[in-house]
Amino acid sequence: MSGRPLLNRRLDGLGTTIFAEMSALATATGAINLGQGFPDTDGPESVREAAVRALRDGRGNQYPPGPGVPELRAAIAGHQRRFYGQVHELDPDTDVLVTAGATEAIAASMLAFLEPGDEVIAFEPFYDSYAACVAMAGAKRVPLTLRAPSFRPDLDRLRDLITPRTRLLLLNSPHNPTGMVLTAEERTAIAALAVEHDLLVVTDEVYEHVVFDGDHVPLATLPGMRERTVAISSAGKTFSFTGWKVGWAMGDARLVAAVRTAKQFLTYVSSGPFQYAVAEALRLPDAYFATLTADLRRRRDLLADGLGAAGFQVYRPAGTYFVTTDIAPFGERDAYAFCRALPERCGVVAVPNSVFYDDPEAGRSQVRFAFCKRDDVLKEAADRLRTLGG
Ligand SMILES: *Cc1c(COP(=O)(O)O)cnc(C)c1O
Repeated sequence: MSGRPLLNRRLDGLGTTIFAEMSALATATGAINLGQGFPDTDGPESVREAAVRALRDGRGNQYPPGPGVPELRAAIAGHQRRFYGQVHELDPDTDVLVTAGATEAIAASMLAFLEPGDEVIAFEPFYDSYAACVAMAGAKRVPLTLRAPSFRPDLDRLRDLITPRTRLLLLNSPHNPTGMVLTAEERTAIAALAVEHDLLVVTDEVYEHVVFDGDHVPLATLPGMRERTVAISSAGKTFSFTGWKVGWAMGDARLVAAVRTAKQFLTYVSSGPFQYAVAEALRLPDAYFATLTADLRRRRDLLADGLGAAGFQVYRPAGTYFVTTDIAPFGERDAYAFCRALPERCGVVAVPNSVFYDDPEAGRSQVRFAFCKRDDVLKEAADRLRTLGG
């Protein structure tokens, strides 16, 4: 084995995810965990019961079909038609692939589409698995930096970043962690660039139902996009069952077949009984989705107001579970040091956005808090944080 490092060079520097580190800190200190974005209340009882029923009835206890159970694939296609219209018509047999969460759909897409040396443009701060998946595929990530206070993408800059080596745009809207939601104008401009430069596009839409301001429209529905776009979503955030890991990739049959080729050698299949339950969840009435958004909007405001009162500079998000803040008003500059000390100082865990940037300056003093928690938990966290200012 000589002196060669165990971890290969592609994964060098990826270490432990910040969520594991901060959640361990929450457990060790008993602090309120507003770091990792998982709800502290399970999703609908009817959906939980559907999973129990599937398990008891022996549906999904053995390997389900590779692309996912037909009931779920039909429900996914139905969900796209219901929320995004006929332009997003999908054939459940060829255009839908069920995956082990959105995470596997992202990984399989990168492994399927990228050659070593290819460039992938993605918004920075990145969702943490993007950098790892692009690296595992041997490709190079190229950040399009979203800057406070608006976090709007600079589309002239995007044009400049596209080179002959650019293979793919990996786009996330609503965007974790900044809460930015692409506008109609931005969607149109991005789609035009993708078409002009003949790029593949992978869209991470896991917060499609968590939009407070503006609207969510899948890029795949724009002219010229269908044949180049793989859309990814998941049951985790929409139905508050993040532990079930049921996600999906959607698009033209040839794109989905390529993703399936990689996916079949990662997990092959997963989450058998949960797939049946998620099929039912996707058919919940519109009121479910409206209530989810309204609940989270209230919680966003509760936490954002609390953080403002505690002295943070608050960037109120247009979507997602997260509010990004700046700690500069406290005279502090280092979000990572701040987050490591925060549980001791006041019993709250948050995540430094700085770790999601390649550009160390761009997010150095930004801290992210999750608000997908019970109102009483958010109020208690806000009370604790109010002691910070001194
Ligand atoms: C939570 C999250 C994911 C992962 O989704 P899973 O279905 O849990 O794998 C992917 N992308 C973003 C932006 C997320 O916030």
